[in-house]
Amino acid sequence: MASVKLHVKKDDMVKITTGKDQGKEGKVLRVLPGKGRVIVENLNVVKRHTRPNQLNPEGGIVEKEAPLSISNVMLICGSCNQAARTGVRLLEDGSKSRYCKKCNESVDK
Ligand SMILES: [Zn+2]
Repeated sequence: MASVKLHVKKDDMVKITTGKDQGKEGKVLRVLPGKGRVIVENLNVVKRHTRPNQLNPEGGIVEKEAPLSISNVMLICGSCNQAARTGVRLLEDGSKSRYCKKCNESVDK
């Protein structure tokens, strides 16, 4: 399976670059690498009508975050506080680290 290049991870702050929540910012709750999608807290919320079930005996409308395409979010750099493109560089110990292409600071602590 082709691996999707992921530029965001769980707990990253991201900015939505397109769609109805364009320009909004939120925290990544989940990354779905196989689908190339992310779920961002309180963003891209959709209302779902549910039938009554054990969890929700009344049924009704449930609000839930829908996955966004990972290409529609940009990482917000913790150093310069801007939505930025990221690159990956190799560290001296051989591990990879993401960095912000705006301020050149490492994004991964
Ligand atoms: Zn930066």
